[in-house]
Amino acid sequence: MFGSKDHLTTIDNHLYIEDVDCCRLAAEEGTPLYVTSERRLRENIRRYHRAFPDAEKYFAVKANGNLAILQVAAQEGMGADIFSAGELSLVRLAGIPRDMILFNGNSKSEKDHIAALQAGVRISVDSNEELEHLARTARNLDSEAEILFRVNPNVSPKTHPKIATGLRSSKFGIPAEQVAGTYKRAMELEGIKPVGLHCHIGSQILDTAPFAEAAGRMMDITRAVVAEGGNVERIDLGGGLGIQYQPDSTAPLPSDLAKAVLPVIQDSCRDMGIFPQLILEPGRSIVADSTIMLTGVNVVKRAHVNFVAVDAGFNVLARPMLYDSYHHVLAANRAEEQGEETYTIVGPICETGDVLARDRRLPRLVRGDTLAFLDAGAYGFSMASQYNGQPRPAEVLVSEDRWELIRHREDESALLAGQTIPSRLMW
Ligand SMILES: *Cc1c(COP(=O)(O)O)cnc(C)c1O
Repeated sequence: MFGSKDHLTTIDNHLYIEDVDCCRLAAEEGTPLYVTSERRLRENIRRYHRAFPDAEKYFAVKANGNLAILQVAAQEGMGADIFSAGELSLVRLAGIPRDMILFNGNSKSEKDHIAALQAGVRISVDSNEELEHLARTARNLDSEAEILFRVNPNVSPKTHPKIATGLRSSKFGIPAEQVAGTYKRAMELEGIKPVGLHCHIGSQILDTAPFAEAAGRMMDITRAVVAEGGNVERIDLGGGLGIQYQPDSTAPLPSDLAKAVLPVIQDSCRDMGIFPQLILEPGRSIVADSTIMLTGVNVVKRAHVNFVAVDAGFNVLARPMLYDSYHHVLAANRAEEQGEETYTIVGPICETGDVLARDRRLPRLVRGDTLAFLDAGAYGFSMASQYNGQPRPAEVLVSEDRWELIRHREDESALLAGQTIPSRLMW
């Protein structure tokens, strides 16, 4: 019923994640609720290790910044791709080794550079201008920044335009033809040690050809850098491998990615006589399918369509509204019943765009039913907001027949946190 998702099953008409009944979870922890299978998370990481035994794998923290999940990633030998000083604090707490952390970003402040230098992590430099800023800051701190350059390889990844990041027109990276010159400049700069190249072409990519194309471009750029006398010790191909959101779709596995990119890299590196460390930065393909989001039905309204209004909106799961994303939906307490009616699933937010799913065949629903949104572990909670006065939901981690809260549900005091009313406004 769930394809390769063997952490999900049904027993007596209820959806189970590992050996835990989702209806019990909803009853005891409330909804909306994010629920992660620890076993699935570990399996997804191990699949990358088997496909790329010699590469370092850096978990893209923006996909899911929960500390318990980062801790599992650390235990399984992952490093981290981070985009802010806040994410740096998270991965340090989770015990990710500093030698396996890359601080990315196209708009880093001086504070960000100082945080990265003081933590001793490598920095991905996104522009010629950032290079000069960073060199100055490193010299002021009597420090040296080990850097990779984020390259814009100009590859079209055939994904949603909002998550294509390696097009010529994208805001990320240094144009391919400038990289060798920039690398040369970096070698002469005091406070800077260039050690490699980095790219990331986009997300939810379902075809391995663009990855092979990007690997080829990276090799061309590496050749140009080596010709200028540059040392390329690290080549980071980023993340972006897609997953199977639609039950009848297919998605490449890490082993397919390996088949597409490893020959390109190995052949070129052998020709050049260099043996760089390969790095990958998967986010979605590590964590998305490990997690479901449970939401309770408040109202079923028969209007020009059948609306089912649930307690999670785009404040809890933003992807459908942001990227027109599909998440498969099941009725967790009627998991073995046939679809009888067609529903549009909407949230509680005061916006017309608050639609989580359209035209879904589901059993006849009533108030009090629980729906499960599958594949919600990546860009799910990490994009949740308090919009419309909605405290953020809880997260739990399931392992076999037990579960633990890994983030408690916010209450209304979370909406007040940090706010004050100036006394002159008070009577
Ligand atoms: C978002 C991002 C990733 C992860 O992408 P996924 O599609 O989740 O695998 C990796 N590297 C960089 C630089 C990113 O911005």
